[in-house]
Amino acid sequence: MLKEAVCKKCRSVGEKLFLKGEKCYSPKCLMIRKPYRPGIHSKKRRILSEYARALLEKQKVKWYYGLNERQMVRFFLQAKKKKSIALTESLASELERRLDNVVYRLGMAVSLREAKQLVSHKFFSVNGRIVNIPSYQVRVGDVIVLRKEKRNKKNVEEIKRRIKKINPPTWLELKSDELSGKVLRMPTLEDAPKFDFDTVVEFYSRK
Ligand code: SF4
Repeated sequence: MLKEAVCKKCRSVGEKLFLKGEKCYSPKCLMIRKPYRPGIHSKKRRILSEYARALLEKQKVKWYYGLNERQMVRFFLQAKKKKSIALTESLASELERRLDNVVYRLGMAVSLREAKQLVSHKFFSVNGRIVNIPSYQVRVGDVIVLRKEKRNKKNVEEIKRRIKKINPPTWLELKSDELSGKVLRMPTLEDAPKFDFDTVVEFYSRK
């Protein structure tokens, strides 16, 4: 994907989605340099219908987690099966439990996109077994480790430097020395980024 194509996603939803790692926290971020929608009518004020607003909110969540529409629908249907908790809560929890998200939250990757790549390239094990499926869903008690075979001076130093700056969420325990993390509890809506999950649920419920 072209460099700016990723940033266009943030610009089109009018919100930073933090898709490019360190650049997102720097003045190079396109939401700072071009804080308007891409396209010819980009600077016109947008009046959104209820449907368009819901669509936009759904796109934010989908792009943030790096999913395609089919995957997003699958997560929604999966969340629906959990009758014991509210659908909104369930959807947020299902998305947060993805292995690529856990790797990112632990600071082992600079962005969710990088986390997805690292997981696919077998950089991590869960409970001692290699897992190369970014959508793998972690459970309470799971231990996620950066595999020794994939460690080198450069990536270990980078991760250690990054880990020092981050505060992992309370549902995860980070062991910096071991480059590992443990799932302490199921993530809740409170642990997810502040998207309007109610609207996303409404969007898919209408279909
Ligand atoms: Fe690009 Fe990141 Fe800024 Fe979004 S937040 S516009 S991905 S640099």
